[in-house]
Amino acid sequence: MPFNPLMFSENSLARRLFERQAAIFFLFLCLSVATFIFGGCTEVPVTGRSQIDIVPDYQLLAMSEQEYRQFLRKHRLCKDPAKVAMVKRVGRRISQAVERFLYETGQSQRIRGYRWEFNLVCGKEINAFCMPGGKVVVYSGLLPIAKNDNGLAVVLGHEIGHAVANHAAERMSQALLLQLGGDALSMLTGSYSPATRRLLMQLYGLGANVGVLLPYSRTQEYEADHLGLIFMAMAGYDPRGALAFWKRMMAAARNRPRPPEFLSTHPSDRARLEKIVEYLPEALSYYRRYLEEHGMLKRRKR
Ligand SMILES: [Zn+2]
Repeated sequence: MPFNPLMFSENSLARRLFERQAAIFFLFLCLSVATFIFGGCTEVPVTGRSQIDIVPDYQLLAMSEQEYRQFLRKHRLCKDPAKVAMVKRVGRRISQAVERFLYETGQSQRIRGYRWEFNLVCGKEINAFCMPGGKVVVYSGLLPIAKNDNGLAVVLGHEIGHAVANHAAERMSQALLLQLGGDALSMLTGSYSPATRRLLMQLYGLGANVGVLLPYSRTQEYEADHLGLIFMAMAGYDPRGALAFWKRMMAAARNRPRPPEFLSTHPSDRARLEKIVEYLPEALSYYRRYLEEHGMLKRRKR
């Protein structure tokens, strides 16, 4: 075959391009792994569970803020002053107790940049959620089941638990690492797979729905229950009320063709109640401390 300089140079150009893409990919993969090992591994307050977090906080908080505003614009806010006040009162009381706890235990960086907000949205849905940065929504359909401040504290404690444990960032980090790992295996393509590109686009500002991008795992749900009980207790709400609340929630589920949204993404009824019973003694110790500090503990008669 005669020597063709053009063909030769095109081939080497293609190879160089391929190598450059591969190098960039590997650099990104190494950075991710290094971040995971050296800086992206954090510990959840109270439970002490290690988790990965390689999604930059500022990016996540900015996306969350945008999503939250958009959500509030698209949904009707509840106007009933008593109900709105109830949601804001309970939310503020728990978030303040949590902030104090994190400050006293030197873990304030967990919620750096958080600006708590508690909004009540009109709707029959039995649901509540919290976006990163402390952006909480409660649907008015949940209030009859919450029944009172203590019942609502179970819900808001759980949601604040998701936020403080940074579960959304953890899910995104897991998904990102898994995807990158998968791509490393298909390196022969020399480029990101469409799925990774999609995920990266979602992660980096093209309108990811932060609140519902990825469902929480069972581990995270139990952890949110665990943290929720402790957080409500720190704020002076009786954590034993959680058992009654979840029983009301489960009864509501039996009367509906579809399970309530708040329940459907969560662990099964019996498993959840058993776990709550398991977490209660620890939560009660926080509750007793609150009562003591506020002179509300009944002294035993001698
Ligand atoms: Zn949850």
